[in-house]
Amino acid sequence: MASQPPTNPTTPAASALGDTTPPRVMAIFAHPDDVEFICSGTIARFVTSGYRVQYVLATSGDKGSDDPAATPEYLVATREAEQLAAARILGVEEVTFLRHHDGEVEVSIPFRRELAKVIREGRPDIVLTFDPWQRYQIHPDHRAVGQTALDAVAAARDHMYYPDQLTDGLSEHRVHNVYFFATDNPNYYVDITAHMETKLAAVRAHTSQVKSEATLEWIRARARAAGQEIGVEYAEAFHYLPMMRPPALKRLPNW
Ligand SMILES: [Zn+2]
Repeated sequence: MASQPPTNPTTPAASALGDTTPPRVMAIFAHPDDVEFICSGTIARFVTSGYRVQYVLATSGDKGSDDPAATPEYLVATREAEQLAAARILGVEEVTFLRHHDGEVEVSIPFRRELAKVIREGRPDIVLTFDPWQRYQIHPDHRAVGQTALDAVAAARDHMYYPDQLTDGLSEHRVHNVYFFATDNPNYYVDITAHMETKLAAVRAHTSQVKSEATLEWIRARARAAGQEIGVEYAEAFHYLPMMRPPALKRLPNW
């Protein structure tokens, strides 16, 4: 992993502001493998465009097995190692494990406070998370993480929220752009054709979860279907939510 990727030369908004720091992306999700399955082609594209990417996982997937011999401790160790391996393949710089229990993440003020601190520390320009308004999403962690991540984005920007966090140089932080993944109301597609094989390699890193080639073919078919929406071979779908700032301040990729 490069520690200092170059600033994306196709991001005139950043240089126009005189800000030469690489834009930052933070993906906030529930379990190891969520991002690899759903939107890791976009992660690979961000990295190759010079963006610095941080993963924030609410849980380490400690209930993610139907093997009667598996224990939560074994699963945490296995799945965190798999997540780190996937992150290395994609070029993700930092992975933060919050280690809540799988299946027990709740929309709560303490969790919102925790994510607001992570956002204030990581200072992302772009946050990726689950679409909290996706209909019929059956996993409670997916619903809770998307809702709370958005609530934390709103709280992190105002100094009146959790002022006890604003010490030792930590300040409030405004996220300009939110991309919701796992959405049923997409309004933004990312062409991942050049990154499809990297995505599949990152998915394969989750060896405890990927038991057959059929899983990989299902992922390829989903990306192909999204690609048809914009006339490319493979794509990933998002609902893009701008956070009320002029376009020049968005630091969005020029894709
Ligand atoms: Zn999940």
